[in-house]
Amino acid sequence: MDNNRQKGTLYIVVPCYNEEEALDTSARTLLDKLRELMKKDRISDKSRIVFVDDGSRDSTWEIIERWYSGNEEIKGLRFAHNRGHQNAILAGMMYARTYCDYTITIDADLQQDINAMEDFISAYADGSEIVYGVRNSRDTDGFFKKLSATVFYKTMNAMGCNIYENSADYRLMSAKALEALSEYGEVNLFLRGIIPDIGFKSSVVHFDVFPRMQGTSKYSLSKMFTLAADGITSFSIKPIRMVLGMGILALLVGFGMIIHIIYEHYFGYTVSGWSSILMSIWVIGGANLLSLGIIGEYVGRNYLETKQRPRYYFWEILSRDEGSDNHEV
Ligand code: UDP
Ligand code: MG
Repeated sequence: MDNNRQKGTLYIVVPCYNEEEALDTSARTLLDKLRELMKKDRISDKSRIVFVDDGSRDSTWEIIERWYSGNEEIKGLRFAHNRGHQNAILAGMMYARTYCDYTITIDADLQQDINAMEDFISAYADGSEIVYGVRNSRDTDGFFKKLSATVFYKTMNAMGCNIYENSADYRLMSAKALEALSEYGEVNLFLRGIIPDIGFKSSVVHFDVFPRMQGTSKYSLSKMFTLAADGITSFSIKPIRMVLGMGILALLVGFGMIIHIIYEHYFGYTVSGWSSILMSIWVIGGANLLSLGIIGEYVGRNYLETKQRPRYYFWEILSRDEGSDNHEV
């Protein structure tokens, strides 16, 4: 085992979107933790915290600038506009990978127990390239969040995307795993699905989740739906197969109906037929629209992927490292 495994350079990546209420407390707590880990010789003294401002409209960036100017362990990256949680994490990790031995990503509200980081680091020292954080329970979530999460994970698994149930975007990734991740070019990002696909040696650490202390959730309903749609469509073509299956089924029923109609016609039962016709119109029409919708979803995503637009671009970078101002992504 090389030396870096035992005392590597850690970059903590923190996505922040309109987090002015939570950020001061979080920056303090994270910085204390980082310094504690340095003092205990668990990580090198080149370790840093990178705040990624995901185009916040409040004073988040000013707070990051203030923390940056007072502490050499802090860095800041800024998007010009909101690109979403997944892109913010990815940007932070891709930025960090040239400087560090491994990253840990954590939410800015510190709902995830930061003490689990020590277990992450131990797992890395033992040879894991990826360490997944899996939450102990969902007691702190409201009913709707719990329900939507369960439906989401069950659907994802049924669709063939094997992600850990209740795994969060709280995880450790080694520089090697990050390099592999950088090869994934898709625009519709669903990290929880992509990262297991890398297939490197990994392990799991369980952690507690606390209620959000400051501010409100930045994951709106529409952001949750986008994440779920990205997750399903980027990992599975099963929905398209289901459409095909539905089509075949409808056709078989249609043939059955022809035989039935001919039988009725020749053997003289008078049937008004109104209800069956109306029902068929609705069922077939509905199935048609649904199928078109699902196919449209894939075609739409294909369109987005072929454009190959950059997933993010840094507007501003706060870093004391040389050359980083020209960082290309
Ligand atoms: N976040 C982000 N961009 C967004 C939405 C959220 O960077 O568009 C960040 C947010 O600042 C936080 C993390 O993602 O650090 C998780 O968000 P939040 O805590 O609001 O989600 P929840 O815990 O309610 O699922
Ligand atoms: Mg949260």
